[in-house]
Amino acid sequence: MAILTSEAEVQRLARALYQKAARQKPALFDAQDLLGRMIDWSLDDESLRVALFRFVDVLPSLESSAEIGRHLEEYFARVDHALSGLAILAQTLHAGTLVAPIVRRNVINLARRFIAEESGDHLIAVLSGLRTEPAAFTLDVVGEATVSDGEAAAMQRRYLDLLRRLAAASAKWPACTQIDDSPSGKIPRVNLSVKLSSLCARFDPLDPNTGVVVRERLRELFREAAQLQAAVTVDMEQYAFRDLTLAIFCGVLEEDEFRQQPYAAIALQAYLQDAEKDVRGLIRWARGRTRRVGVRLVKGAYWDSEIAWAKQKNWPIPVFLDKAATDVNYERLSRLLLEGHDVIDAAFGSHNLRSLAHAIIAAKEIGVPANGYEMQMLYGMAEPVRQAVIQNGQRVRVYLPAGELLPGISYLIRRLMENTSNTSFLRQTYAEKKDVDSLIKTPLNTKPATQTARHPAKPSAFQNEAPVNFSCEENRQRFTETLEEVRHVFERQPKRGSATWIESVNPADSNEVIGRIRVTTVAETDKAIDKAARFFPEWRDTPGQKRADILFQAAEIMRERRWQLAARELFEVGKGWREADADVCEAIDYLNYYAHEMLRLAEPRKTQQLPSETNTYSYEPRGVAGIIAPWNFPLAILAGMTAAALVTGNCVLMKPAEQAPMIGAQLFDILREAGLPDGACQLLQGGGELGAHLVRSRKIHLIAFTGSREVGLEILREAYTHRPGQAHVKRVVCEMGGKNAVIVDNDADLDEAVVHTIDSAFGYQGQKCSAASRVILLSEVHDRFLSRLVDAVRSLKIGPPEDPRNAIGPVIDATAHRRIAEYIEIGKKEAKCVLEMTAPADGFFVGPAIFRDVEPHSRLAQEEIFGPVLSVLKAKDFDQALQIANDSEFALTGGIFSRSPAHIEQARKEFHVGNLYINRGITGAVVERQPFGGLKLSGIGSKAGGPDYLLQFLEPRTISENTLRHGFVPPERAMK
Ligand code: NAD
Repeated sequence: MAILTSEAEVQRLARALYQKAARQKPALFDAQDLLGRMIDWSLDDESLRVALFRFVDVLPSLESSAEIGRHLEEYFARVDHALSGLAILAQTLHAGTLVAPIVRRNVINLARRFIAEESGDHLIAVLSGLRTEPAAFTLDVVGEATVSDGEAAAMQRRYLDLLRRLAAASAKWPACTQIDDSPSGKIPRVNLSVKLSSLCARFDPLDPNTGVVVRERLRELFREAAQLQAAVTVDMEQYAFRDLTLAIFCGVLEEDEFRQQPYAAIALQAYLQDAEKDVRGLIRWARGRTRRVGVRLVKGAYWDSEIAWAKQKNWPIPVFLDKAATDVNYERLSRLLLEGHDVIDAAFGSHNLRSLAHAIIAAKEIGVPANGYEMQMLYGMAEPVRQAVIQNGQRVRVYLPAGELLPGISYLIRRLMENTSNTSFLRQTYAEKKDVDSLIKTPLNTKPATQTARHPAKPSAFQNEAPVNFSCEENRQRFTETLEEVRHVFERQPKRGSATWIESVNPADSNEVIGRIRVTTVAETDKAIDKAARFFPEWRDTPGQKRADILFQAAEIMRERRWQLAARELFEVGKGWREADADVCEAIDYLNYYAHEMLRLAEPRKTQQLPSETNTYSYEPRGVAGIIAPWNFPLAILAGMTAAALVTGNCVLMKPAEQAPMIGAQLFDILREAGLPDGACQLLQGGGELGAHLVRSRKIHLIAFTGSREVGLEILREAYTHRPGQAHVKRVVCEMGGKNAVIVDNDADLDEAVVHTIDSAFGYQGQKCSAASRVILLSEVHDRFLSRLVDAVRSLKIGPPEDPRNAIGPVIDATAHRRIAEYIEIGKKEAKCVLEMTAPADGFFVGPAIFRDVEPHSRLAQEEIFGPVLSVLKAKDFDQALQIANDSEFALTGGIFSRSPAHIEQARKEFHVGNLYINRGITGAVVERQPFGGLKLSGIGSKAGGPDYLLQFLEPRTISENTLRHGFVPPERAMK
């Protein structure tokens, strides 16, 4: 049984430390200047707090005083001015641009309290100052996120330069026992904290190349550190990176060269529910290798984000929801680390005196000397706490961010948010002056720990299917095996197309035949239509609940087969791992969502009821539906349109795209296995002629089509042509193409804008109707954004999608390949090509291409290319950017990256697209969350995955009955 640390001792020490620390306020809560005061006020006013942090966040990107003035007004005009003290702020606003330089200076001053300037003498002066306290340091480099290989290499050089510079400076410092000595020898004076995500273009646990590149760069840092007797601490970032970070860290240290040197440490986060296994694992690992390793135990800095990310994906939340549970875990892990002191150099990163006192007492009880572990605190956040701990004789290290002051602001925001949040010890101590007893009492865990995603077979409310989390090694392994298993049955031979057979080939290798399917003949199609028409009355009269149950069942079967389906899709249409999995999730969502929607619509509604009259409003299916689907979301779109038609009671003729017949056949099998009667849904395989035949049939009542504009318009023309003997007007649900634009404002967060623009433009090789194909840059941001974008795209690898190293796979077929190549040639005549990547010669690969100086009316900017080709346009201001964006016959999706509340508002009103995305990627709409569909020539239907969608498959009927019989009015409740 674990021994508990003496509670009385912990509280006694915590109280003593607290009394010392409470005498002085930390700089954070010391309202010395305007911003300091605003932080002070913001503690009581949530809207001011949000406005303040958002303003400080955008400030580094603002070039002129006029821009600073405008943003000040936009952010603070909405804040409630009634609060005392805000008068100064109001005056600031009216002073407009005059105060902009003062604000900028204020923010720089604020930043200087928390960040050391890397260039010049400031950094060394800060470090020397810390040594006099005495406090050691670990340096954290702050700045822009890494998005390209070039930036990753530059970051590594920066780390190496810093190591050398600091080693030279530190050699001159006089020795100081309190911070230089430990029971196992001298402690390196130079300590660098490194984020592994900064060492590669995109840190992605799914991409095996991430590990290779980061290991190589980390080796060089370790080598230099060993040479200079310096230490390297690997920081821990988001949960998704945790396993890979640990694997890289341990992996490199296991190599012969690094078995003893350098001194290395890693941060672990106590807010993670499964942190204990890492602590135990690391202790075991170090013992197994008889190597000392440092562990910085922190609570964790991404708490809000982790919850948001998990909720977005419907994944279990990895962090404790209760602050006290984190505190409890922190104490448990502190003890474990101290018990492992034979191999672990523990560092306790916290400002919470209770947590620190607990570690000190636990160490004493276990027998770890005071210099056998250390306390770590953030620079600028908690000076009095630090002083109290130093005076207690502890070894203290300050975590010091260094870099340029303004670009380092995002770091500052995260720290300010953390330390001024309601649950922060510092805020409670200094701002709220909570009583000491409540601050140092034993933390008690009161809330349930876990929240897991659940999927009962027939949930009572709709819930999105969670995508596979490929950060988990187990899932990566499973998909690798599934790919092998699925591939096993494919044949290797050249394509032998014929009129009677469709041969589906792997677009990454056209000699690999995925499957062969017989084309449905015209006579068979007509027979199928007749059969559907005969079965229609029975299907129409089948209760909505029963039809919905079949879809629920189909969703369940699909969930069981999701791995195989995603693997087949990868080979049939060339989607990457995540994209293929997302398509399967979306298909499951459509089945479930429309089933739920049908239950909502199935009951007749009563309209106005009178004493002598009942009035009902109800829906009926239309009849026989032809479903004509594209290949680019071969499961989801086909399943969505089919499910909507079926669940509403229509009989369906389902025609997958000729490029993806095998996935279509899989869906058909699933529906039949789920209990769908023979006559309710029939599968037709073939190309455009078959589709056209369906559209022209007199016996078809409804066409649900998703595909290109040309075909869509043709279908509309044909479907609305009345044919002799046809006693109805056909209904067409028609979703077509896009020429989607992303606007990047002058004040955009470029780290985010670059990454999301790349995902939106080049995800699935740009073959999504929602893909970004135009990016409109405001003039101030144009050059910087473009150069980062081009470098980042250049870092992407092209090749077969089964290899997760490849971010860019093949396009769908030879026709697409040719068409895109032609557009690239057109582009070279119309604009300036700034990137054209070479692609593998086998398979239908096209390297991403980027054009700049594209004219708004050029073909490049107006026509849907449907491939990895991006046009960059320039706008002088936001109005012009919107005008260019709207200047298109299409209006499907669009996006803006901006931190101006006024511009965001303007885009909401004036950016005329079906789906507008603000400060995020423009693809990947989620069923029910972002109902999807376009305006103008992008579509005429109501949105897929939204509350109006099923109505298009139904005809409304009103029935009114006079219930009065010779003066007798039956009571309302007796009438149906
Ligand atoms: P496509 O128009 O070539 O083919 C779509 C379907 O129509 C296929 O099943 C095809 O066999 C059939 N078809 C072709 N000619 C026909 C005709 N004359 N009559 C009836 N049916 C006919 O499109 P695609 O290449 O499969 O898909 C890519 C296009 O789809 C792009 O333009 C893309 O933007 C669009 N798309 C739109 C959405 C959306 O929701 N708006 C979603 C996905 C794809």
